[in-house]
Amino acid sequence: MKTYRELFREIYLFYKGRLHEPRREAELLLSYLLDRKVAECYLENPEVPAETEKQALEISRLRALEKIPLAYLLGRWHFYGQTFAVDENVLIPRPETEQLVETVLEDRQGGSLKCLEIGVGSGIIILTLALKRQGWNFTGIDRSQAALEICRKNSLSFGLNNVTLLEADIAAFAPQDKFDLIISNPPYVSAERMIFLSAEVKKEPEIALFGGEDGLDFYRIISGFSEQHLNPSGAVYLEIDDNQKEPLEEIFGSFGKRRFYRDYAGFWRIMKVML
Ligand code: GLN
Repeated sequence: MKTYRELFREIYLFYKGRLHEPRREAELLLSYLLDRKVAECYLENPEVPAETEKQALEISRLRALEKIPLAYLLGRWHFYGQTFAVDENVLIPRPETEQLVETVLEDRQGGSLKCLEIGVGSGIIILTLALKRQGWNFTGIDRSQAALEICRKNSLSFGLNNVTLLEADIAAFAPQDKFDLIISNPPYVSAERMIFLSAEVKKEPEIALFGGEDGLDFYRIISGFSEQHLNPSGAVYLEIDDNQKEPLEEIFGSFGKRRFYRDYAGFWRIMKVML
């Protein structure tokens, strides 16, 4: 059996010149397969079972040669302290989206709020919130049946019973209810930016990325929807792209007070709207 460090070196050398971040990629792969933090892998330098080694080599080949994102090859990804099942029908969880969740959790501690997520994907936002706020009531919609399947699987694995998931397109969604919180990480990539996405991001579902010609289609729809369906003391939380702050000020201009938050890299990433 090889040790972690031996196998790391082998995969690192294979990745070098083939991937942008060979060291980080090799570390992440083995950290997931060994179910240990990267630092622990180095410190403990565990022996790698033959079966795990075989899996690591298979995955590293597909990762480097086919440019398939690691999350899809593993079928799971960490988000906000939990592991979520993912596949090529959903976006890969991103750290920026953890900040969206964090912002909601910081703003709203208790109570029993009614919360809607538009475009749940794998469910990272809605299910993390549902775990942290068990007294709240959650509805999640997605227009992709395949994404909903993954989300249901994740919801089941967390044993949640405060989440209702529906197949619906926000453009045609007309529920009876009003909500205290409306949350979304909608598709927001413009037609122009779609062309320049990296090979990895191009493996992610277009339905979850493409936000129409200027990338703002879903914000327009969500703005109209929220005017009808947000409770007076409620708030809308949206993930956005850095260059969308100005047009979004306008789209939500007649709606309410807006506040923007930057992500850890310094880009505008979250918008909150209150009546
Ligand atoms: N953050 C993604 C990107 O810019 C886009 C995610 C989205 O459209 N919601 O690649």
